[in-house]
Amino acid sequence: DHHDIQQILRELGIKADNAAFSTGLIWGGAANEKNRAIHSPADGKLIASVRFATAADYEQVVQTAQGAFQSWRLVPAPRRGDIVRQIGNKLREFKEPLGKLVSYEMGKILQEGLGEVQEMIDICDFAVGLSRQLHGFTMHSERPAHRMYDQYHPLGVVGIISAFNFPVAVWSWNAMLAAVCGDVCIWKPSEKTPLTGVAVQHIIRDVLRDNELPEGIFNLIIGDAEIGQLLAADGRVPLVSATGSTRMGRKVGEVVGARLGRALLELGGNNAIILTEHADLDIAMRAVVFGAVGTAGQRCTTTRRLIIHESLFEDVKQRLLSIYPKLPIGNPLTEGTLVGPLIDEAAVRGFTQALEAVKQEGGNLLFGGQMLTGDQYPGGNYVQPALVEAENHYHTVQEETFAPILYLIKYSGDVDAAIALQNGVRQGLSSSIFTLNMREAEAFLAQAGSDCGIANVNIGTSGAEIGGAFGGEKETGGGRESGSDAWKIYMRRQTNTINYSRELPLAQGIKFDI
Ligand code: NAD
Repeated sequence: DHHDIQQILRELGIKADNAAFSTGLIWGGAANEKNRAIHSPADGKLIASVRFATAADYEQVVQTAQGAFQSWRLVPAPRRGDIVRQIGNKLREFKEPLGKLVSYEMGKILQEGLGEVQEMIDICDFAVGLSRQLHGFTMHSERPAHRMYDQYHPLGVVGIISAFNFPVAVWSWNAMLAAVCGDVCIWKPSEKTPLTGVAVQHIIRDVLRDNELPEGIFNLIIGDAEIGQLLAADGRVPLVSATGSTRMGRKVGEVVGARLGRALLELGGNNAIILTEHADLDIAMRAVVFGAVGTAGQRCTTTRRLIIHESLFEDVKQRLLSIYPKLPIGNPLTEGTLVGPLIDEAAVRGFTQALEAVKQEGGNLLFGGQMLTGDQYPGGNYVQPALVEAENHYHTVQEETFAPILYLIKYSGDVDAAIALQNGVRQGLSSSIFTLNMREAEAFLAQAGSDCGIANVNIGTSGAEIGGAFGGEKETGGGRESGSDAWKIYMRRQTNTINYSRELPLAQGIKFDI
C-alpha cells in the first residue's frame, strides 16, 4: 500500500524508536517544547513529529562541523569525490522509498518525487567528476623567472537553508559540490518538510561510518526561521546558501552582508513564456501546461505568465480551456495523477486571495480557482488550477503567488514588445520563448533580450538540467548553483606568485633601491 508511510520509513532505515527524532546530536536535539507535527498534504494524516533544535543544539552542531572541517579539508579532492560517489550509489539504492517520501511529505506527484531523487544522483555524478577538476588558471608574469597562478582552497562551514518545494534536491546541489570542494555543511531544511532531510541524513551517515569519517561533514539541524537566523548571523559560517522566498532572502542577505560573509540566494521567480506568431503551438502547449500546473505551481521556475501574440491569443486560450478541465488532480502517489495538493492551508489561502485580488484589478478568471472537496481530496489542500486573462502591470501579476495560477497576457507588435513585458517584473529567474523564427530567438537571448538567469528557446521555464548553472537575477537574488562553474563560490581563491630568480624585481617596474 503506497500510503503505508511506516513501511516507507522502515525501508529508509528510520526506526519507530527514533521516528520522533529526539536522539542524536546532529538532527533534532534535546527535548523542548517546540515539537512540530508533520502532516502529509496528500491526505492530512500525521506522518511523525519532530523536535526543533534549540540554540544550544545549534552551538553543538556548529562546533561538530568546525571539528570535521579540520580533517575533511585535508582529504584529497578525488577521495572526497569517492565519498560522494558512494552517497550517489546509496541514493540509487533508496530511490524508490525516498521518492515516495518526498511525494508524500511535500505533495508533488510520485514521478516528480523520483525525479527529485534522480537529480540528487545526477549532481553526485557531476560532483565526482568535478573532484578532479577544481582548477584555477595560470598566468604569465610580467617579471622574469616568476610564475603566477591561482588556486582554490576549501572555504569552511557552509550553511544551507532550503525551501519546502524541493525538500532534498536543492540541498544536494549545494552539499555535494561543497563536499568535493572540501567544505562541511549544516543543512536546515524547511520546517514544512523535515522528514526527507532526516531520511537523507540516515543514508549519508551510513556512508560516512563505513568510511570511518565523522558525521560532522554533513550536518542536519531541524528548526524554523530562528535557526536560519542563527546561521545567517554566524561569523563561523563563511557561506550561507539560502533558497526560498524573496522576503526570506532579503533578511538573510542583510544579516550575512552586515558581517561581510557570502550569501548565495535562490529566491522567488515570476517566470514567463512568450508565444510569438511563429510559435509551434503543439510543442508549446505541453511546455506551458507542465510549467504552469506541474508541482501544483509550486516550483520557483513555474510558468506564471504567458505572453501571447494577439494573432494566437484566442487559439491558445481555447486550447488551454480544453486541457485544464481534464487535468487529473488527486493523490500524488496514485499513478496517473498530474496535479497534487498545495503544501498547506496557508498556500490555499494565498491562491484564493490572489484570484480575488486579480479580479478586483480587472482580471478575468477563465477557469478554475476553486478549492476541491470530497472524498478523493482529503486534507483540504487540493485546488483547481486557474487560468486568468490579465495585464502585466497588475499588482497581483507582479507578485509570485506560489500556486497554480497562469496569467494570459496579450501583446501586439514585434518580439521587443513581448520581451519588455517579460522583463517588466522585479524577479528574474527563468524565461522562455517559443518561436521558429531565428531573429526572434536570437533577440530574446541577446544583451537587450531576457534579463533572467535562465533563458530557453522552445523549452518551457521549468525542469532545468543540473549541468548548467541555476539561478536568477534581480529579486531572485543573483546566486548560481549546480553545474557549470557554480562550484567556485564554495571555495576561497588564492593568487600565488613565485620568484625563482636571483633578483627581486617589483611589479609595475617600480624602483625602490635600499
Ligand atoms: P520560505 O522563504 O518560507 O522558507 C524557505 C526557508 O527559509 C525555510 O527553511 C525557512 O525556515 C527559512 N527562513 C524563513 N525565514 C527566514 C529568516 N528570516 N531567516 C532565515 N531563514 C528563514 O520559502 P518556502 O515557502 O519554503 O518556499 C517557496 C519559495 O522558495 C518560493 O518563493 C520559491 O520561488 C522559492 N524557491 C526558489 C528557488 C530558486 O532556486 N530560486 C528554488 C526553490 C524555491
